[in-house]
Amino acid sequence: MHAPGDVRVVERDSPTIIESTDAIIRLSATCICGSDLWPYRGVEAVDDTPMGHEYVGIVEEIGDAVKTLKVGDFVVGSFVISDNTCEICRAGYQSHCVHGTFVSQIGTQSERARIPYADGTLVATPERPDPELIPSLLTASDVLGTGWFAAVAAEARPGNTVAVVGDGAVGLMGVLAAKQLGAERIIAMSRHPDRQALAREFGATDIVEERGDDGAARIKELTDGLGAHSVIEAVGTQESLMQAIRATRPGGHVGYVGVFHEDVTVPGPELFFSGVHLHGGPAPVRRFLPELIDLIWRREIDPGKVFDLVLPLEEVAEGYRAMDERRATKVLLTI
Ligand SMILES: [Zn+2]
Repeated sequence: MHAPGDVRVVERDSPTIIESTDAIIRLSATCICGSDLWPYRGVEAVDDTPMGHEYVGIVEEIGDAVKTLKVGDFVVGSFVISDNTCEICRAGYQSHCVHGTFVSQIGTQSERARIPYADGTLVATPERPDPELIPSLLTASDVLGTGWFAAVAAEARPGNTVAVVGDGAVGLMGVLAAKQLGAERIIAMSRHPDRQALAREFGATDIVEERGDDGAARIKELTDGLGAHSVIEAVGTQESLMQAIRATRPGGHVGYVGVFHEDVTVPGPELFFSGVHLHGGPAPVRRFLPELIDLIWRREIDPGKVFDLVLPLEEVAEGYRAMDERRATKVLLTI
């Protein structure tokens, strides 16, 4: 991204193995994330910054210390690099690994990428996937893994009512995850007919179009005045966070995965008296990758439906425009 609103395709040096724990992958597909729109809109600083952090591809080269992968493997990687061996990783919080770095610093809207700590970051599929599985596998790299973590953090489980704030790709994946985790009732908050339809396809039982305090009030109406057991916050604004907290019953859980804007604050007294649990942050996608790959491989879930525009990498600038103008929910880039 040369500057806000200005995405260009340029030649960069081919990546090479630097550390013995590295792998070089040739990407099969990548995509544009809602969070990529922040620098695009000038909310975050950008200056000739490589972009992209979602990726699937084929291992082309490995360092001497890489043990679990071989050249030719098809791999899915998390959007955060992790060693998967430190104490934080072993507790399931690989997105906070002591060796963690964000893949956005590498920039996987590209043909090739160097992935550090390859053993701890990448997971190989059982064999080369059918091309039709690639979009779903790509979602596991971020949006599916993030939606899944949000549902887990919100303690979605059999018998629960789960409300989902946000109808972007992550919110829709949160609906799918809540369904898989056995939630009885799933309330998607959306005012876009096409996204409502996809939410229903992924398992939503109810749609709420109201936003903010009206949205929270509607959730309470639907839950005998109590609020939902579990609320997924997949936007990241002050309004959406408060909507999530106010839609949750005392003792319930908010799983927040929408990256908070800088000015988001949590009012102390309201949090204190709400009695809700708050848990979230950058999702430890690596924790869930083996399970998600298995569900996709067995065709139990089809999260790849979230992509509604496919473009070649050369046309990435049009992909950003389409997402910025909300003409597309999620753009897949072929390579
Ligand atoms: Zn670690």
